[in-house]
Amino acid sequence: MTARDPNLSGKGNGLLRWLGLGSSDHSVTVDEVESASQAGDAAGSLGWRDKRRRQLLEDIGSFMLTHRLEVAPDSLAIAYDVISGSNSKLTMLLEERILKREPITAEWLEDAARRSNPDGGEDVLNSLMAKLETSIEGFSETTTAARSATTEYNSALETQVDELKKVSHAGEVITELAAIARVMLDRTREIEQEMSRSEEETSALRTSLESARRDAEIDHLTGLPNRRSFEAMLTAEHEAAIQSGEPLCVAICDLDHFKRVNDTHGHEAGDRVLRSTAKSLAKISGDRCFVARHGGEEFVALFRGKTIDEAWQVLDSTRETMSERRLVNRANDQPFGRITFSAGIADILRFGSPREALKAADEALYAAKNGGRNTVLKAGDLQDRQAA
Ligand code: GH3
Ligand code: MG
Ligand code: MG
Repeated sequence: MTARDPNLSGKGNGLLRWLGLGSSDHSVTVDEVESASQAGDAAGSLGWRDKRRRQLLEDIGSFMLTHRLEVAPDSLAIAYDVISGSNSKLTMLLEERILKREPITAEWLEDAARRSNPDGGEDVLNSLMAKLETSIEGFSETTTAARSATTEYNSALETQVDELKKVSHAGEVITELAAIARVMLDRTREIEQEMSRSEEETSALRTSLESARRDAEIDHLTGLPNRRSFEAMLTAEHEAAIQSGEPLCVAICDLDHFKRVNDTHGHEAGDRVLRSTAKSLAKISGDRCFVARHGGEEFVALFRGKTIDEAWQVLDSTRETMSERRLVNRANDQPFGRITFSAGIADILRFGSPREALKAADEALYAAKNGGRNTVLKAGDLQDRQAA
């Protein structure tokens, strides 16, 4: 079978092979990389993250070569989204197209990438902002019109009052004044209505803007806060922790061998596993713990007011509960088997910045992966071990 033959009998491996992934000589599975590591060859000396990175690069290269894509920033970004799984919708569109046996051309990929753009939320926000600005502009035009109408009528009134002082028979002038007052009243009512319409429009737009803002902070697959929301929370909580002196810990969790779930059961089933994981992690989320999806199959947790040992305890007990469950693919009753995660956790105030703490948590995560997975490791332990 050539790399372009769609093997549709077994979704997953067949699709991946056809995409130019999974079966080519240079494409290695996680197990192959690990056994290479045991054999002590060049690849074996690389760390867990380096292996992942190298595999990602190889997969992206393979994908681009298979589909004859130009090596350009746009096509590289699309290939990254497809291979890393960071754009679920794009992966889904791709799977559908392969199942329909339609060709994957550069034009089709660009169009699909546009249609599945995960930053669509920002477009909605920008368009709402533009509408709000227009509405506020309209509102201020109405106010300016009201002000100039009042000024005009005021000067007309002043003229009439001056006339009134001069004439002995004021009847005519009073009639004129009454007419001006009536016109002014009508115009004021019109303006009032216009202003109230503008107010309603602005308030409806504000509500949509609020909900679009909330939407932009949510990960749509799992319903958890997303990375953007986490970044903002991390900065705010770090400042609060410095003020209060309360401890603050950050953990990065990464599902173990998740690629296998996708390869064996398909992307949609993988999505369900991600949702189920999010649900388990959300159970520890509350006043003192903020859980978010960091991207892909990685989740982050921020623990307020807990020492690293206490935070570790909470996360490790979630890990244990999860690892004791056996998930089943409800689409075909096939077992997913044990879905586990590895994690690294760091005490943020021990580091110069939240970024450094995240890096340390990430390093502890690599160590947990290298140590056999399904483990939560503390960054401090790692440093202490290295220092010893
Ligand atoms: P490790 O234990 O070393 O972490 O192995 P892994 O297989 O979990 O890690 P790897 O980085 O090789 O694969 C992660 C996979 O996660 C690849 C990607 O397709 C998948 N993925 C990322 N985001 C999504 C998503 O939103 N939905 C689905 N179904 N899969 C996703
Ligand atoms: Mg990962
Ligand atoms: Mg993983």
